[in-house]
Amino acid sequence: MTPVHIIGGGLAGSEAAWQLAEAGIAVVIHEMRGIEATPAHHTTDLAELVCSNSFRSDDPEHNAVGLLHAEMRAMESLILREADRARVPAGSALAVDREQFAAGVTAALAAHPNVTIVRERIDSPPAGWGPTIIATGPLTAAPLAAYIASLTGEDHLAFFDAIAPIVHADSIDRGIVWAQSRYDKGEADYLNCPMDKEQYYAFIEALLAGEKTSFKEWEANTPYFQACMPIEVMAERGPETLRWGPMKPVGLRDPRFGKRPWAVVQLRQDNAMATLFNIVGFQTKLKHAEQVRIFRTIPGLEQAEFARLGGLHRNSFIRSPLLLDDRLRLRAEPRLRFAGQITGCEGYVESAAIGLLAGRFTAADLRGATLPPPPPTTAIGALLHHITGGAEADSFQPMNVNFGLFPPLHDIHKKSRKAAHAARARAALADWLNA
Ligand code: FAD
Repeated sequence: MTPVHIIGGGLAGSEAAWQLAEAGIAVVIHEMRGIEATPAHHTTDLAELVCSNSFRSDDPEHNAVGLLHAEMRAMESLILREADRARVPAGSALAVDREQFAAGVTAALAAHPNVTIVRERIDSPPAGWGPTIIATGPLTAAPLAAYIASLTGEDHLAFFDAIAPIVHADSIDRGIVWAQSRYDKGEADYLNCPMDKEQYYAFIEALLAGEKTSFKEWEANTPYFQACMPIEVMAERGPETLRWGPMKPVGLRDPRFGKRPWAVVQLRQDNAMATLFNIVGFQTKLKHAEQVRIFRTIPGLEQAEFARLGGLHRNSFIRSPLLLDDRLRLRAEPRLRFAGQITGCEGYVESAAIGLLAGRFTAADLRGATLPPPPPTTAIGALLHHITGGAEADSFQPMNVNFGLFPPLHDIHKKSRKAAHAARARAALADWLNA
């Protein structure tokens, strides 16, 4: 049997490869890092996390991404297995030591007898290849992006994604900053920098006045990745926006004064050794020197040393509802499947989930079987349904998994609806897996 070729060894490509390899099918992962870097990756490891170290909520009862975690674990996801192994404290969220996580994924694939990893950039899948999965992500190399555009006849879209800065733990002033999770949920996993009213509005002024990275021509007039909107863009929307967003003080009490501050900047552990903390929600396109100057006005960060500063990057995705069938095949050329963020799902977990399905669909094809899409009442099925047909093609934008993508449960009271979604999803997934 000819091997399945997977272009891109990120979150989606790694998961797709694992699913195929575990099904007894030979796969070749073609990954360009090692030969050529992307603007956001820093290593040559497979499945590198380029920004936050969080896989978001791990609550399967009340949160759609937590439910998606549970479904992926039930389908023996490599990404979830390695995330669980590299877990660091983050309240009810699943956060990981990014190096340990990516090293775990890379080692598992490198050691698998059905997996070959080739370091090369693919500009177009050669005609001789059989089933191929394109999982090149938001930073797909330009020649392949051009090939995809020529193949589909559609211009692929582009917009921004932003990286939050990371601070060295020992440069944080613990006399000011205190550890507490919002509403004391879980362990005291977050470090909190308090601001009074004066400090907050001065900070907003500084963000607005700070020098920003200028846009390149091709970047103009493109919408932001909603979950990663730069902090200064939020500030532009009004002085209170950040107090209702990443700087909200609710559920937090400054132990020095026994009361809630006017605003709070939160830091989350970024590695297992707890030597690095990221500034939660502080993605930015401020110039590096400006970031250092302005973020050092945050109480407790006056002496902060930055391990990494924030940045801005392009994100590419195709208009999947129009271009892909319900099993992720390109309608115009069905030997090609797409997986990951390039399909218009959004986030590490979602990208890996779509990779998982691409792997399983391809394995079924090769066995001459038909694997129906998972029911839309499951988290993974709801996400797949959204990107392959549920969403409006004309206004299609990348999407995180959320209960709004599930078939509605109008008869259930709002209070119990999330739990009802979760219960229905569990039953539906079990039926689908058994069938
Ligand atoms: P990737 O993980 O990017 O993998 C694609 C791989 O393909 C890369 O390794 C790349 O080197 C390789 N490649 C590209 N072109 C070629 C080629 N022609 N030949 C061979 N190899 C190629 N999601 C979150 O959940 N949380 C975040 O905090 C977050 N922050 C982000 C920050 C930035 C700057 C960006 C760009 C995205 C961010 N995302 C975030 C979105 C997204 O979830 C991640 O990018 C995720 O890694 C997507 O998974 P993927 O497998 O689709 O792509």
